Amino acid sequence: MLYIVATPIGNLSDITFRAIEVLKSVDLILCEDTRQTKILLDRYCIVKQLVSYHQHSKIEKVDFIISELKNGKNIALVSDAGTPGISDPGNMLVEAAVKEGIQVVPIPGPSAVVTALSASGFPTDNFIFYGFMPHKKGKETLIKKIADNEMVSVFYESTHRIMKTLEKMKNFLEPERQIVVCRELTKKFETIYRGTVSEVLEKLSKDKVLGEFVVIIRNK
Ligand code: SAM
Repeated sequence: MLYIVATPIGNLSDITFRAIEVLKSVDLILCEDTRQTKILLDRYCIVKQLVSYHQHSKIEKVDFIISELKNGKNIALVSDAGTPGISDPGNMLVEAAVKEGIQVVPIPGPSAVVTALSASGFPTDNFIFYGFMPHKKGKETLIKKIADNEMVSVFYESTHRIMKTLEKMKNFLEPERQIVVCRELTKKFETIYRGTVSEVLEKLSKDKVLGEFVVIIRNK
């Protein structure tokens, strides 16, 4: 079986009993960065063979994993944080496994997008998740689309680009439009900024802008 195992997005206690059981039981664990995954495994006294599987992994790697699965091995896929396949590697492997008739078992747990939405206070029965905001090309187009959205919009953003992206959003969103910016969820410096784009920009510029971000924009 191929297990798709969600792991913490910061706080190492945010892992399910089932995830730990599965990680203890499998023959090997596929992960993005072995050093990162080792920190988690050490915390739960799990000693297991780690094999790297990341966004640059080639098709030969997928073929190797599929052959191991066909030979009867149980394999778990984790990413550095959160749920594999959500703006993270995993989809290509799952698709190949499904094609080969291999059972794929998702082990649910944290994901930054859902964690952020749950604290937003916005109407989140429906929402649109855009993954990472494009760096250059497509950024303005996406922001214009978000400005017109009748559903709550969510995207991921990095430390280096958060201010620039918010500055750009200021040009296209109505001045009173509410947003929520979640920084470092579940970690020591977790901060949730709420308000208009201008208000959030002001708060962020006073803080040391470091960390990982989820940006949520209230629907129109
Ligand atoms: N697969 C992950 C998930 O399920 O959330 C997402 C991985 S993606 C490569 C990493 C991005 O997710 C970060 O750049 C950030 O935008 C967001 N993210 C991950 N952990 C976060 C956290 N603790 N707080 C805020 N955003 C986070």
